[in-house]
Amino acid sequence: MTAILFNSSSNIGHGAQHDWPLRPPPSLSDATHIIRCLAQLHSKGPDIEKYIFLLALKAREPRMFYRLCVEHMKEVVPLIYTPTVGQACQEYSHIYRRPEGLIISIKDKGNIGAILGTWANKAAARISVVTDGSRILGLGDLGVNGMPISVGKLSLYVACAGIHPSSAIPICLDFGTNTQKHLDDPLYLGLRQKRVPTEEMTEFMDEFMDEMSVVFPKLLVQFEDFSTDHAFKYLDRYRSGYPVFNDDIQGTGAVVLSGFINAAKLSSAASSEPLTAQRILFFGAGSAGVGVAMQLLSFFTMEGMTEDEARRRVWLVDSKGLVYTARGQLAEHKKYFARTDYIGPPLTSLLSIIDYVRPTALIGLSTIPGTFTPEVLRAMASISPRPIVFPLSNPVALSECTFAEALKHTQGNVLFASGSPFEDMLFDGTMRSAGQGNNMYIFPGLGLGAILSRAGRVTDSMVEASALGLANSLSAAEEAAGLLYPRIERIREISAQVAMRVVRAAQEAGVDRNPALRALNDPELHMFVKSHMWDPRRAQGASVGQRL
Ligand code: NAP
Ligand code: MN
Repeated sequence: MTAILFNSSSNIGHGAQHDWPLRPPPSLSDATHIIRCLAQLHSKGPDIEKYIFLLALKAREPRMFYRLCVEHMKEVVPLIYTPTVGQACQEYSHIYRRPEGLIISIKDKGNIGAILGTWANKAAARISVVTDGSRILGLGDLGVNGMPISVGKLSLYVACAGIHPSSAIPICLDFGTNTQKHLDDPLYLGLRQKRVPTEEMTEFMDEFMDEMSVVFPKLLVQFEDFSTDHAFKYLDRYRSGYPVFNDDIQGTGAVVLSGFINAAKLSSAASSEPLTAQRILFFGAGSAGVGVAMQLLSFFTMEGMTEDEARRRVWLVDSKGLVYTARGQLAEHKKYFARTDYIGPPLTSLLSIIDYVRPTALIGLSTIPGTFTPEVLRAMASISPRPIVFPLSNPVALSECTFAEALKHTQGNVLFASGSPFEDMLFDGTMRSAGQGNNMYIFPGLGLGAILSRAGRVTDSMVEASALGLANSLSAAEEAAGLLYPRIERIREISAQVAMRVVRAAQEAGVDRNPALRALNDPELHMFVKSHMWDPRRAQGASVGQRL
C-alpha cells in the first residue's frame, strides 16, 4: 500500500514519519495488509497492549487503523473507547508514546492563540474534543491523563461519521489536578499543582474559546468530561456565541431520549396509556441525569405538554434521596427538577421512592452498581406491564443491574437499555438483546450535521433532531426483534441519517451557514452527506476537511 502522510492527530513531528520514505515491499496490498494488522492486534495480550498497538497503528497508517475500526467495529471500539480507554487514561503518563493532540495549560493564559497556531493543518480543522480531565468516565479527576478520552472520541468521529482524520483536534486543558496520586507520580505529564479556582479557569476558557474561533474558523467544539458544575457552566456560557455542545449532557440526553421514545412506544402500547403518561424516575442527578431529564422535557413539550406538565413527569434521586425543594440547599443544576409537591421527611431508600412515585421508567445514572435490586425490579414490574429500566452507569462493573437480573425479576417484560454492552441471552426460549444507550450513536452524526451545515451554534432543536433521527433509524428487522437501538454495525448509515436531520434542524433554526444545502431535497441531501463522509476503505475518500 502507499503511505498516507496526513497528519491525523499530531501536529508535532514524530519518529514514525521519517521512516516512510523507505520503499514498502512491492507485494504489500491493502487486502492482505488489513489481515496482517488484525493478526498483529490479536497477537497482543492484555487490552491495554491492544490499545497501545492500535494507537501506534493510527499514527503510522491511519487508513489501516480506521479500516480496522470500521470493519471490526464490535471488537475495536471497546479497545479505543470505553472500557479500555478508561485504563488508558489512568495509565496515560506511563504508556505515553507520542503527542496525539494539544495540551494547553493554565500557564499558557495570554498565549493560547500562539499555541493553537502551532497546529499544522489549520484549514482542515472541523472538530475538537476538549476535556479538562476533571471527571473522566466514572474515574474521577485524572488531570492531563484525560487526553485519551479526546483522542478516542475523535477516532469515533472518523470511524462512525466519516469526519476526515486531519479535521480532528484532540485537546486536553491542564488546570492542575486534585488527585494526589497523580501529583506524586514522577511520570505524571501535567502541571504539579491543585486545580485553579473557577474564576481563573473561566478567564482562561474565555480566551481559549475566542482564540479557537479565530485560529480555526470552521471548528465545532465538543466539551467532554468536565466536572458537573463546570460542564453546565461552560455549556451555558458559550453555546450562544460559538458552535459548541457537551456530550455528557446533550449527547447522553439525546441517546437516552432516543431509546426512551422507542421503549415508551412499546410500554404505552402494552398499558394502553398515552406516551405522555410516563412517570420517569432518575436515579442519579449529575450531568448525565439532569442532561437526560432536560432532553426528555423538551421531547414532552414537543408532544404538546406545557413545560410545567412535562417537568412534573420527572423525579430525581441523588445520594441523599429524592430531590425536593423543602429538603434544603440544593446544587444549582438540581433546582429546576426539584419536586415542590413533596414536603415530608427525606425519602432515602429507592424502594420507598418507587412506592411513592410509581414510575413507569427507572433510569440509572448514579455510578452505584447493584442498586436496582431484585426487589426494585419486581416493584417496577408490579407498576407497569412493560417497565422501562435503563441502568446506564459505565463501565459495566458500575451498572445498576445486569441484563440477566432485569429479565429475571420482571419475567422478561423489561424494556432494557444499558450504558455498557451486555451479551444477547436466551430467556424463556427467546433470544433477547440488550439495548446499549451508547453516545456514539449520537455525537458523530450530530457533529457531522453541524459541520456540513456550518452551524454557527448547536441548538436544542439540533440535539433533539439527532435523537429523533436515531429513534427512527431502526430497520424493520430490528423493530421486529424488539430492539430499542439499531445494530452498531450500521453506525455509518445511522450517522448519515442523524446528520441529515441535524442539518435540517440547523436550517429551521437559522443557524446554518451553508445556504447551498437549503436548495437540496431530502434524497439529494442524503447523497451530499454520504459523499462527504471519508471512507478508509477507499484510498482517497472525499473529505469534509478538504471539500468544504
Ligand atoms: P456524576 O455527575 O458524578 O453524577 C452521579 C449522580 O449520582 C449524582 O447526582 C450523585 O448524587 C448520584 N449518586 C451517587 N451515589 C448515589 C446513591 N447511592 N444513590 C443515588 N444517587 C447517587 O456522574 P455523571 O456524569 O452524571 O455520570 C453518571 C454515570 O452515567 C456514569 O457512570 C457514566 O459512566 C454514566 N453515563 C452513561 C452514559 C451512556 O450510557 N450513554 C453517558 C454519560 C454518562 P450527588 O449529586 O448527591 O452527589
Ligand atoms: Mn463523557
